[in-house]
Order: sequence, then structure tokens, then C-alpha cells
Amino acid sequence: MTSGQQIKRIAIVGGGTAGWMAAAALARVLGTRAFSITLIESEEIGTVGVGEATIPPIQAFNALLGINEDDFVRATGGTFKLGIEFADWWQSGHRYFHPFGTYGIDFGPVPFEGLWHRLNREGRAGPLEAYSICATAAAAGRFSRPAQNGNTPLAHIGYAFHFDASLYARFLRTHAEAAGVIRRDDRIVGVDLRGEDGFIESVTLASGDKVAADLFIDCSGFRGLLIAEALGAGFEDWSHWLPNDRAVALPSAVVGAPTPFTRSTARAAGWQWRIPLQHRIGNGYVYASNHLSDDEATATLLASLDGEPLAEPRLLRFRAGRRQSFWVGNCVALGLASGFMEPLESTSIHLVQAGIARLLEMLPTRGFEAADIRRYNRLMTAEFESIRDFLIFHFHANDRRGDPYWDELRTMAIPDALTERLLIYRATGRIFREADDLFSKTSWLAVMDGQGQTAEGFDPLAAAMPIDEAHARLARIASVTEAAAQHMPRHNDFIRAHCAAALAPKIEPVEAG
Ligand SMILES: Cc1cc2nc3c(=O)[nH]c(=O)nc-3n(C[C@H](O)[C@H](O)[C@H](O)COP(=O)(O)OP(=O)(O)OC[C@H]3O[C@@H](n4cnc5c(N)ncnc54)[C@H](O)[C@@H]3O)c2cc1C
Repeated sequence: MTSGQQIKRIAIVGGGTAGWMAAAALARVLGTRAFSITLIESEEIGTVGVGEATIPPIQAFNALLGINEDDFVRATGGTFKLGIEFADWWQSGHRYFHPFGTYGIDFGPVPFEGLWHRLNREGRAGPLEAYSICATAAAAGRFSRPAQNGNTPLAHIGYAFHFDASLYARFLRTHAEAAGVIRRDDRIVGVDLRGEDGFIESVTLASGDKVAADLFIDCSGFRGLLIAEALGAGFEDWSHWLPNDRAVALPSAVVGAPTPFTRSTARAAGWQWRIPLQHRIGNGYVYASNHLSDDEATATLLASLDGEPLAEPRLLRFRAGRRQSFWVGNCVALGLASGFMEPLESTSIHLVQAGIARLLEMLPTRGFEAADIRRYNRLMTAEFESIRDFLIFHFHANDRRGDPYWDELRTMAIPDALTERLLIYRATGRIFREADDLFSKTSWLAVMDGQGQTAEGFDPLAAAMPIDEAHARLARIASVTEAAAQHMPRHNDFIRAHCAAALAPKIEPVEAG
């Protein structure tokens, strides 16, 4: 009878972002007195080496690890992120901003969005960005952490980070090893399954050693060494909705002060990211290989860099989708081993974090309760699917007519849940956040409006306020937001004052924006 017996040995396979996040978090929460935590990675195989933009929940992960944020930004050459600028997505020449934080404020039961839609119908609302402290500050190149006082837009700042993926893995490794995680640099050449139940008993290393454990965490990257190759978990393919299957990535030299936001620019057969770090800019073109050759993608990327390229272009291949089961027997897959959706909204690292949080919540005994495993798989599936629909929407709601890639995406059939969301929005401007949704009403509104969707009506609750009063209140929010943003330090000054990395070039303040 093993159901009440504690697991003692945990083996993490893979030392990319996922593996070291898991190692650091498990060591912090479980300690290494009652548990032994071993991480196996192979420097010979290496890591995917990308994954540099994040979303605000990462703050909770840092807090869990007891990480000082300034130390973290300094150690990873990081910068701050207030949202994402989308250029040319709806139509060529059009831009919008997806901010963190919130738009305006609700007035009791009257939601801000309802008032905005009502005024917008009459041509009396400002652009959404005017009501967001994050969008306004980003446009002005400014950043600060949120104010503690709730009575100013500065209290509604939401932020995340850009960082160097390899420096982040190193930073987490230092934390994890200091907390007692044992690291093995060796290649796994075999996975040994237990006869009676098919659970993983041990992995065999190239050196001939075996590492046995009660719980295995598969962070081995796209191939899913344990979850797929050894345990046979299938893959649910989403490439009919998210057809991009390649990326070419390339760092370039810093030019000017770092922007406090990621930029995503739509291209003929995909989109290009620009992620500012202190010591370089990360760039990449994510595209569909049936519409564009690798050479064409590389040429487009090289032609649109701000500064000198700092390395040779790197080609990455992937497929959108998820493992049919994230947890099988005594193995839980995290990171690329669990599935992949393109980095448009910087969600992969978040999914690693979400998986770790749920695993800790449902930490098994050696009985590995089937109901726990079912619950974990159900919750992770819902989280993957809600992100998937948000991503699909960006591509689907385009007006880039005449580009075959974009025409296909605009006319494809979309998931039912997304269709329902769109119908509700178009009729009433309302957005409902379901229990499993990662993205807030602000996020959906930003992208719905940014991708050219108009609401016919508005939330009836907004009719409770006289229209002139609504107009005055929104005008006041916009002016207070603008004034508050101008009080924030420039992003680069904030970094220099709090968390300048040793390697970063000194950039003098720019008098712009
Ligand atoms: C183009 C692109 C851009 C991305 N951008 C973002 C972004 O902006 N934001 C974001 O959140 N995410 C992003 N991601 C996703 C992000 O990079 C990953 O989620 C994250 O890096 C985690 O990767 P991983 O640790 O799962 O895998 P990997 O980094 O591939 O690590 C796998 C590990 O397993 C080890 N391994 C494999 N086989 C063996 C073996 N046989 N023996 C021993 N060890 C082995 C490897 O050595 C390595 O240590 C992006 C992904 C891609 C492809």
C-alpha cells in the first residue's frame, strides 16, 4: 500500500527555463531535507535558448522564490514590460497597444468598458490607450512600479519583464543549487519502466549511472523524452488554427534607450518580435513554412533590425498544440515537453509557472491518486485552451486582405468558445472572464478593439449614468492618467537607478516622447 507514503525523490529531466524554474520552486517550497531533488541536463544537447518576454504573474513566482526583483533584473540584463505594441496587425499601417493593468476604473456596478463603448458609439470617447496608465507610460518611454496609494492611476500599473533566457536559467540554477538541488550534467540514454504499472523507475545516463525517483518532471523540451517517447502521451495538434511552425531568431546591438514594452509587427507570413534587453535586443520572425522560405524570413528579419546583428540567425522549428495528457503515472511534463503555442502573448513561461503551482497544490503521495492526475490534466487543458483562443483571435480578426497567409487565417473556422465570445462582444461590448481565463477583460478589450472589432451596443449597466456625466468622468480619467504618466521616471533612468546590469552600455536619456 503506497497511497499514504510520501514521495521522497524527485528527478527533473532538463535544465532549460522549465527545469530550473521547477527545481528552484520545488526546493524552495519542499526543502531538501525530506525530499531529494536532482536535475539532469545535458550541456551537449543545450537548451532552446529563447523565451525572453513574460507577463505579470511572474511577479508571484519571484515572490515565491524570495527573489529580490532588482537583483533579478540586474542578473538577467532585464528590462520592464508594460505591455505589447502590435504594429500592422489589423491592417498595414495600423497600431495598437495591449497594456497590462486596467483601463480606467469602474463606477460601482457601472463598468468602465460599458461607458467607453457607449461614448465611442457617439464619437465622444478617446482612444482606449488614453485610459491606461501602462499604455500612456509606455508611449512616453516611462516606467515605475505601482504606487501603494489606491487613489491614483499609478496604483494600477501592471508590469512584467524582458530578460536574457540563458542568464535567467543561470540565475535560477544558482538559487536552486543553493537550496540543495543536485545537478547532473549527463545525457539520458534510456528510460526504465516498472513492469507492474508502467511508471518510470529510473533513467539511465550516458555515464552508465541510473537515477531513480518517485516523481519525474519532464522538462526535456519539444521531444518530451519521458512523457511522449517513454510513456506515449499523444499530441493534440492545433496547427490548423495556429499554422506558424518556424522562427528565426537573432540578437542585435542596443540602439537608444530600451522601450518598456515588447513590439510585435505583422509580416507577410507571420510576425516579428522585438524584445529590448539592457545589453542587446532580441528579435525573431515567427512564420508559417508553407507560406515563406527560411531564407526569405531571415532576409526580412535582417533587413528590419534596429542595430548591428550580434550573432548568426538561429532557426527553430515547432508545432502548435499540447500533450493529450500532461501528467501520466509518476511523470509530469512542463515547458516545451508539455506543448507549445507561439510566443505572441509571452505565455509559455507562465504555463510552466502554472504547472508548478498546480503540481505543488496536488503534490502526490506514492499512491499517485488517479483523481488528482485527472484534475491536473483537466485544469491545464483549460488553461492551454483559453490561451490558444486568445492567440487565434489575433490572427483571425485581421483585415490584411490580399496576403494569402492572412486571408487564410481570416476565413478559417475558429473554436466554438471563441465564436461565442466574439458574438457577445459584437452585440454588447461585454467580455466575460471565465474561471480558467488567464487574460483579463483589459487584455481582451485591447485586442478586440485593436483588431478592428466594433460593438453594436453597450452594457446596459452603462445606461445608468447620464451621458454627459460619463463623458466628463472619462475625460477626467484620461487627463489624470496623462499627468500621472509624466510623473514617472524614464524607463532607462529607472533601470540605471535600481538594477543596471554590468554588461549594459550606458545610454544617455533621450528627450523624446
Ligand atoms: C521562437 C520561440 C520564442 C519564444 N519566446 C517566448 C517568450 O517570449 N516568452 C515565453 O514565455 N516563452 C517563450 N518561448 C517558450 C520558451 O522558450 C520555453 O517555454 C522555455 O524556454 C522553456 O523551455 P524548456 O525548458 O521546456 O526546454 P529547453 O530549453 O529545450 O530545455 C530542454 C532541456 O532538456 C535537456 N535534455 C533534452 N534531452 C536530454 C537528454 N537526453 N538528456 C539530458 N538532458 C536532456 C536539454 O539539455 C535542456 O537542458 C519561446 C519559444 C520559442 C520556440
